Amino acid sequence: MEINLISDTVTKPSHEMLHYMMQAKVGDDVYKQDPTVIELETIIANIFGMEAAMFFPSGTMANQTAIKLHTQPGEQLICDKWAHVYNYEGGGASFNSGVSCCLLDGDRGMITADQVLAAINPPEFFHSPLTSLVCVENTTNKGGGACYDTLELAKIRAVCDDHNLKFHLDGARLWNALVARRENPKQYGKIFHTISVCLSKGLGAPIGSVLVGDKETIHRALRIRKILGGGMRQAGYLAAAGIYALKNNVSRLDEDHRRARELAGILQKLPWVNNVEPVETNILIFTVREPLKDTIVIEKLKQKSIFISAMGHGKLRIVTHLDYKGVMHDYVMETLHKITF
Ligand SMILES: *Cc1c(COP(=O)(O)O)cnc(C)c1O
Repeated sequence: MEINLISDTVTKPSHEMLHYMMQAKVGDDVYKQDPTVIELETIIANIFGMEAAMFFPSGTMANQTAIKLHTQPGEQLICDKWAHVYNYEGGGASFNSGVSCCLLDGDRGMITADQVLAAINPPEFFHSPLTSLVCVENTTNKGGGACYDTLELAKIRAVCDDHNLKFHLDGARLWNALVARRENPKQYGKIFHTISVCLSKGLGAPIGSVLVGDKETIHRALRIRKILGGGMRQAGYLAAAGIYALKNNVSRLDEDHRRARELAGILQKLPWVNNVEPVETNILIFTVREPLKDTIVIEKLKQKSIFISAMGHGKLRIVTHLDYKGVMHDYVMETLHKITF
């Protein structure tokens, strides 16, 4: 039994999901003739109370499309220093859109309205890049699955409105935040101009992300997705996995969150663990006590068939997910308890 806790992207489609996918009615989605893709897009637009949605092969492409939609070359976006759009999308913001990033020193990947306000370049000052977009992440990835307070997000939106900026949410793990905080997704639809969500993380679909926004914006996204090579043909088989996941795998995210909290509880008591960051959702970040090295911990757990990952700066990461079952959890809890260095 191999227990893979490096990410929630490692899940494989269940038999039920595969069966559902194989029943999908499909067509050519580049001609907008795939009924299952249209169904998924409609479902997700409705969840957020927004006008339109578009299916993408990856979250990276959905975010990159959003950045392109809201900016012109030479302009600048504002995000946290740990943001996925800055750190983990291959430099796409500069490559695809020709924009620079103004990085803010947030708290566990979360920024405030005051920080955003202070970072906006004066539009009349032609020496500096024109600020045109703010991107936030909920939950934060590198911030350890932390969740924003929607009141702060509404404040950031007010700053954006005052300064003519667009506001994009990288909601790769927004489902986790919605479940953990018992929030109404329609709130998010009101706060943001565009939202990207992943189906291939906690929800357990093999592929797929969706970008939501108003009709005009999503219509413009069609051309950008085409340019990026994301126009797919009989994509309904993949969209069906997303529909199945939305029906079956959202509320159970609570279970992932509970297991992550339980793992944190054990780690906190271990003599070789230094610090365990607060656990709000399915991501758990911790550091080990010197002179123990993170690589030694990874190796030793690997020998016990437990795979976790390093995030740099001595940080270790565990991510719980749909394929991390109760028996595995019992075994990991017991192993952590017994292991010594
Ligand atoms: C995973 C992730 C994405 C998208 O990643 P893809 O692998 O391209 O689907 C975007 N933002 C955050 C915060 C993520 O964790």
